[in-house]
Amino acid sequence: KERNANEPEFLQAVEEVAETVIPYIVKHDIYYGKNILLRMVEPERVITFRVCWVDDAGEIQVNRGYRIQMNSAIGPYKGGLRFHPTVNMSILKFLAFEQVFKNSLTTLPMGGGKGGSDFDPKGKSDNEIMRFCHAFMSELFRHIGPSTDVPAGDIGVGAREIGFLFGMYKKLKNEFTGVLTGKGLSWGGSLIRPEATGYGNVYFAQQMLSTKGDSFDGKNVVISGSGNVAQYAAEKTIQLGGKVLTLSDSSGYIYDEAGIDAEKLAHVMELKNVKRVRISEYLNKYPNAKFFEGKTPWEVKCDIALPCATQNELHEEDAKMLLDNGCICVSEGANMPSTKEAIKLFHEAKILFAPGKASNAGGVATSGLEMTQNSLRYKWSREEVDSKLKEIMADIHQSCIEYGKDEDGYIDYVKGANIAGFVKVADAMLAQGIV
Ligand code: NDP
Repeated sequence: KERNANEPEFLQAVEEVAETVIPYIVKHDIYYGKNILLRMVEPERVITFRVCWVDDAGEIQVNRGYRIQMNSAIGPYKGGLRFHPTVNMSILKFLAFEQVFKNSLTTLPMGGGKGGSDFDPKGKSDNEIMRFCHAFMSELFRHIGPSTDVPAGDIGVGAREIGFLFGMYKKLKNEFTGVLTGKGLSWGGSLIRPEATGYGNVYFAQQMLSTKGDSFDGKNVVISGSGNVAQYAAEKTIQLGGKVLTLSDSSGYIYDEAGIDAEKLAHVMELKNVKRVRISEYLNKYPNAKFFEGKTPWEVKCDIALPCATQNELHEEDAKMLLDNGCICVSEGANMPSTKEAIKLFHEAKILFAPGKASNAGGVATSGLEMTQNSLRYKWSREEVDSKLKEIMADIHQSCIEYGKDEDGYIDYVKGANIAGFVKVADAMLAQGIV
């Protein structure tokens, strides 16, 4: 704690894991007394670097770039890049730490990492984004590689940014390799990768609901965010017969009582991915919807909640509102969107609750499938990737049951995901010795 005193998000993520994993370590001699968790919380390597670029006005801008190479016990470092003004060491270390467990859960051989910059893509021209991405990669390239560290997208890093990053990597290394995932389809990308995190989250929630003999059909679903994860969580929800009532961004949320159907969602995608404007613009086309400025959507009555925006966006009072309104299932699309206090309430109420490291693992799992296709120099069909994704989400769900089922039959998915993720990494670290 003292060593990381200025890193609240990192401490939050570690505490959540420690609370469930330490009792398990104490009961199992092979892990006990080996300081294995202490080793896991220290990143193998942290890289910070200067990123200088020139804006459209000719001004020189300076940002800070990061890559946290957290753990490579079971495979090359793997995890996204985030471009957002709030990015700092604490946030990236929490994300990298979560990533280690998540990647372990996917059943694929990937270690954990995370990176990014405090660069704010909002309001920047395409040329500015390109210049920033090129400048960022002109340093990062020496620390990554297809068998070393394979970054992907995250908040503020989508297909456009991955393209610019890949272009500079290829130029500097003079090789065409699968060093990034989330690539375009014509240059090494995988089908279903853009959809994977959102779809995977809904597949996971579907698995949870099926333990109660229930499904998405006819359910009212509240979603936060309107970026990559939220959009495809909404798409899959609609396909499974659920009614999507809300979407949001950092300015507030929209509520459409009639439901955001496939046509309306296509409009949201146009607003967010092409025009890159605020979610409130939805009302210009659909004036019957309402916009709640500066608010999050948890006050809306629903059966299922899918937080898909950012960390710590669902607080204790939000959890109370959700429970009072009869919510039966919360499945995290974002990383650590629910605070510790909110999770406590979900557990006490014994509703279905999935932590992001389990329920949003479909994105990185499909990135793993993209890496496999790149290595094979082969391309799987949409159906093949989607069925593998479904299978992986079902396997993760099964692992959560194996390690998280309490004596009274309640499935504690937090405990299940933490222990299942831990065991595989810890076993590999023990086998490889003290390095
Ligand atoms: P995007 O950048 O595509 O979208 C992020 C969305 O969240 C936007 O609607 C954004 O609104 C909103 N948001 C971001 N920061 C804040 C904030 N501080 N307060 C309120 N709203 C905010 O990112 P993704 O959809 O890719 O990522 C969303 C979450 O999912 C993140 O937690 C990410 O780590 C996690 N995740 C993503 C994966 C992926 O494959 N993309 C994989 C696994 C997890 P605005 O535009 O106003 O900023």
